[in-house]
Amino acid sequence: QVRVRFAPSPTGFFHIGSARTALFNWLYARHTGGVFVLRVEDTDKERNSEAFLNVIYDSMRWLGLNWDEGPQAGGDCGPYRQSERAPIYTEYLEKLRATGRVYEKEGATWFKISGEPQIIEDAIRGRVERTEEKDFVIIRSDGNPVFHFVNVVDDITMGITHVIRGEDHLSNTSKHTELFKAFGAPLPVFAHIPLILKQDGPGKMSKRDQGALIEEYQKRGYLPEAVVNFLCLLGWNPKDDSEKLPIAEIIERFDFPGINQSNARFDDRKMAHMNMTYLLELPAADYLALARRHFAADPAHAATMASVTPEYFADVIAISQPKVKAIDELPDYTAYFFREEFPWNDKAVKKTFKKGEPLARLAELREMLAAGPDFADETAVEETIKAAAEAQGFGFGDYQAVARLATTGTNAGPGLTQIFRVLGKAKVLARFDRFLA
Ligand code: GLU
Repeated sequence: QVRVRFAPSPTGFFHIGSARTALFNWLYARHTGGVFVLRVEDTDKERNSEAFLNVIYDSMRWLGLNWDEGPQAGGDCGPYRQSERAPIYTEYLEKLRATGRVYEKEGATWFKISGEPQIIEDAIRGRVERTEEKDFVIIRSDGNPVFHFVNVVDDITMGITHVIRGEDHLSNTSKHTELFKAFGAPLPVFAHIPLILKQDGPGKMSKRDQGALIEEYQKRGYLPEAVVNFLCLLGWNPKDDSEKLPIAEIIERFDFPGINQSNARFDDRKMAHMNMTYLLELPAADYLALARRHFAADPAHAATMASVTPEYFADVIAISQPKVKAIDELPDYTAYFFREEFPWNDKAVKKTFKKGEPLARLAELREMLAAGPDFADETAVEETIKAAAEAQGFGFGDYQAVARLATTGTNAGPGLTQIFRVLGKAKVLARFDRFLA
């Protein structure tokens, strides 16, 4: 049975690179019917924190990357935190000592390498050959075991069959295969995933880069399904240009040959676009629930939401759903539904005043609308605007533009007759009057 592990060190916030490594392990376990282990590599007492660890747990749960064995889940190979596995490391140090490959020098415990070429048949990179040239420390003079040692001991004692991790660990692998062999343990399959490059520039995406932290997406109201789908495409290729794929299908199709050898590049527009395609398909009630949660999380937005009836709020959100890339854009996007003072978008004003005499047109439209149908009837209102435009030889689009500008302060947004319906005739005409004054 396949056993894979995600082995984070809780020394910083959970970022895109870690999330993708976790995801690829999870996908491979689900694809093969194997076991996904979470192992916490927290031997570096100074740099670890419980807060960072909790963020890892939360973010993994939010993304739906449930682990079969690990902290909070249990399992036969525990404990799953390296800080709790000292007796196991002592036992394995003694095993290694018995082979004659361990010695003490300058206060530390060293491992004597074989010096033979280490051939790694990497499931993604192909054959990689490296020869270690120097013995290395496995236990520091202060008694703390070194990463290479505990990492390999845990992979052996947890029965890990496939090591799927970032390419930055490829250069460590020859040390690891030296250790596996010294223990007389079979080598796992190694699969080193290409790096994620930052949006612009040559470097690797770092924790400090915009869009790097998973909890940001959670806070911004992104859909975890969209984030997961986006992460899958950072390095994995479904081979037929599919982009939006249900997770069940990704699980079905995911395998090592589909993982690219070349580095992936982060692209926040692509992420936003993916999120939008998922948002568009969300049932209105679910979308509304997300919007309410997002407004509620900020006192000012919560007050805005509380200032109107739940029906009115639901209406505003419903007509905005097809237009907004992310839930966190909603408060700004919908601001003019909740207050009479709203900013005028300069560009929209310039554009509208470039052609004809918009103010005169708006004044005429105002009279026709005042005498016309109730705004609840969108079709009738649309006919009225069309008729007014036609009668005056004015393009329908330009006509709409000035009406929209007067009503909302901008030139983009939900359908104009939808906005009219939600605001109601009295408010819209009052806004026209203020614009004309
Ligand atoms: N703790 C290591 C890291 O966070 C894990 C290395 C591995 O997966 O083998 O990079």
